[in-house]
Amino acid sequence: MTNEFEVKCDCGAVTLAISGIAKVHGFCHCVDCRDLLDIPYHSVAVWGKEDVTFKEGEGRVSTFQHPTKRMKRIFCSNCGEVLFNTNVLDWRVISQQLISKNNNGAVPDALIPDKHIFYEQRIVSIDDDLPKYLRGISGALYEESS
Ligand SMILES: [Zn+2]
Ligand SMILES: [Zn+2]
Repeated sequence: MTNEFEVKCDCGAVTLAISGIAKVHGFCHCVDCRDLLDIPYHSVAVWGKEDVTFKEGEGRVSTFQHPTKRMKRIFCSNCGEVLFNTNVLDWRVISQQLISKNNNGAVPDALIPDKHIFYEQRIVSIDDDLPKYLRGISGALYEESS
C-alpha cells in the first residue's frame, strides 16, 4: 500500500507513521521470528527503515536487542505492545494483527498476506493455496506430496 497510515499501541502512547510500499506481506515461518516473539509463525507486513517513523511517543519506546540474533523488539514501555521488530536487514517487521487493530479490524487490501516465507523452517503446516517459499521470500517453492 502506498498511502501513509498510522498504527498505535494498545495504550495510545506511541504512534507509528508508515509510508511506502511494503516489501513483504505474508506469513513468516522462520526460527528467528519464532524465537524473538514466541509465536509459531509471524503474520507480517515489512517496510524499509526509512518508511516507518515515530509520529508520537518515541521517548516512550524501549528496544530489546536479542542476545544472539541481529534482531530487536521495539515496544511501548507503558503497555508492552511490540510496535515492530527488526530483522538482519534492519527492515521494520510489523504484525498484521497490529495493523488490523488499527484499521477497523481488517488488513488493508494491499497488505493481505500473499505468500508463506521460510516455510522449510516451519513448525506448523498450513493448508492453503498461497505460494510457500522454502528458504526466503522467493526462490524454491514447497511442493505438496500427495
Ligand atoms: Zn502503549
Ligand atoms: Zn521470520
